[in-house]
Amino acid sequence: MSNVSGAILVIAEHDNAALKPATLNAVTAAAKIANSLGGDIHLLVAGQGAEAVADAASKVAGVSKVLLADDAAYAHALPENLAPLVVGLAKSYGHVLAAATSEGKNLLPRVAALLDVAAISDITGVVSADTFERPIYAGNAIATVQSSDAIKVITVRTTAFEAAATGGSAAVESVAGTGDAGSAKFVGQELTKSERPELTQAKIVVSGGRGMQSGENFKLLEALADKLGAAVGASRAAVDAGFVPNDYQVGQTGKIVAPELYIAVGISGAIQHLAGMKDSEVIVAINKDEEAPIFQVADYGLVADLFKAVPELTSAV
Ligand SMILES: Cc1cc2nc3c(=O)[nH]c(=O)nc-3n(C[C@H](O)[C@H](O)[C@H](O)COP(=O)(O)OP(=O)(O)OC[C@H]3O[C@@H](n4cnc5c(N)ncnc54)[C@H](O)[C@@H]3O)c2cc1C
Repeated sequence: MSNVSGAILVIAEHDNAALKPATLNAVTAAAKIANSLGGDIHLLVAGQGAEAVADAASKVAGVSKVLLADDAAYAHALPENLAPLVVGLAKSYGHVLAAATSEGKNLLPRVAALLDVAAISDITGVVSADTFERPIYAGNAIATVQSSDAIKVITVRTTAFEAAATGGSAAVESVAGTGDAGSAKFVGQELTKSERPELTQAKIVVSGGRGMQSGENFKLLEALADKLGAAVGASRAAVDAGFVPNDYQVGQTGKIVAPELYIAVGISGAIQHLAGMKDSEVIVAINKDEEAPIFQVADYGLVADLFKAVPELTSAV
């Protein structure tokens, strides 16, 4: 049974105060589906005291309605509480989309399971209202998948879609919450405080690998990043060695980034790392091994000892 009619529901990501930029990329994917379908795009803002978010959501171009579900159960975006809400709403939609962020990846598979449909994860292209492109084999191949499910539940790779513009004026409608599912409790959160831009949003990323040798040595990269206004990332080897926290990890099992400039320092360029950064506009690699595979994807390569090259680069910037 194929249902390619009806509106598209996009789940807004936010912190009850501001709309997160990843939502705008998901709206663009929704707009591509709407183009071939003619459907409306609705944004769901589920939170507590999130009126400012609903207001921002109503200004996103292409969105015709904002659904605001205000409930204490949604204050911390617990997927256990959000899933029943989205499932209830989804029955009026042909598509449910969210950004393929930690939050989206936590919520939409639950929604798909409860609706008994396939989750279509991490799409990078919209072929038509029921056919999508998504990377497989760590980004080495692109699969074109067609879904015959009545409701298509989709996460969107944010780096593959431009951010939707502002300038809309959608109506905001309140919807009833579904309350606390009682299966999970929010205990607390520890957020990394950083003056640097968020890794997935940064225009420039400076990443370090095992070649950095220690967490202390990451100061070299931080100094460069601060001069460039860049975020700092890392390979999994650097994270596993405890040099930096795991939210720095770029790659297949880390974050997917596509900045204007990616500087890889002491990173060999394993396919699992490339899967997270190879769509960057300009890639610079610094590695002492001229045979390192990172040089195959690099626009600019410097065969050098990073402990000499990075301080020189920093003082030259
Ligand atoms: C299922 C799975 C998922 C994975 N997911 C990820 C992922 O998300 N992200 C990720 O990064 N990896 C991931 N990996 C791991 C990946 O396969 C590699 O092991 C990892 O990326 C290697 O990290 P690295 O390049 O820092 O280390 P290495 O491969 O050890 O490379 C270190 C590099 O530093 C260079 N170097 C050393 N000293 C210096 C110096 N003084 N100056 C200049 N260069 C120097 C060396 O020449 C070398 O090229 C995954 C693996 C698996 C199996």
